[in-house]
Amino acid sequence: RTNIIDIIINTCVQQQQPAKSHGVDLCWEVPDQLPDMFLDEERIGQVLTNLIENAIKAMPDGGQITVSAEQQQDYVLVHVTDTGIGIPADQIEKVFLPYHQVPSHVNGRETKNTHLGLGLAICKQFVEAHNGRIWISHSEVGKGTRFTFSLPIMPETEQTIKTGSQTTA
Ligand code: ATP
Ligand code: MG
Repeated sequence: RTNIIDIIINTCVQQQQPAKSHGVDLCWEVPDQLPDMFLDEERIGQVLTNLIENAIKAMPDGGQITVSAEQQQDYVLVHVTDTGIGIPADQIEKVFLPYHQVPSHVNGRETKNTHLGLGLAICKQFVEAHNGRIWISHSEVGKGTRFTFSLPIMPETEQTIKTGSQTTA
């Protein structure tokens, strides 16, 4: 069992310098405590890293990224908020598709040569492998974007299953 707070802090500390070199201020706001969960630390770290890298790319003139987390019923929600270029409404559904990038005539950015458009498709797979979801919870063109992913807390699920199969065997 790992704690999402540790993953968030480790990833943000790691991304602090790269962000800074792009004129981006990266900070995190997490509660004092969240429940431990069954998480693939490396993959969830990668999801966060991808979201932070995307946010940095969306702020060519610098800006602010805030990573936050909160518990909502049986889920922990993690938000990555940026003050970047935003994503037009008709692109919101598409950005999670493999190889899809917002066309440069729409957002004025040319990323085709250096990026594949796979980051979010991979994030979606990793989050869904944890029975979670990932979505754009807010975006406004020219103002910024907020990505959110959820992870189920599933208290004691794994243990209950194991004990159950032992006693019925
Ligand atoms: P890769 O992740 O493979 O290096 P990529 O970053 O272009 O390439 P994705 O991470 O899948 O690919 O993102 C898809 C597209 O969604 C991006 O090309 C960009 O147009 C748009 N996008 C993603 N995150 C943001 C964001 N925070 N603000 C604005 N646009 C974004
Ligand atoms: Mg990316």
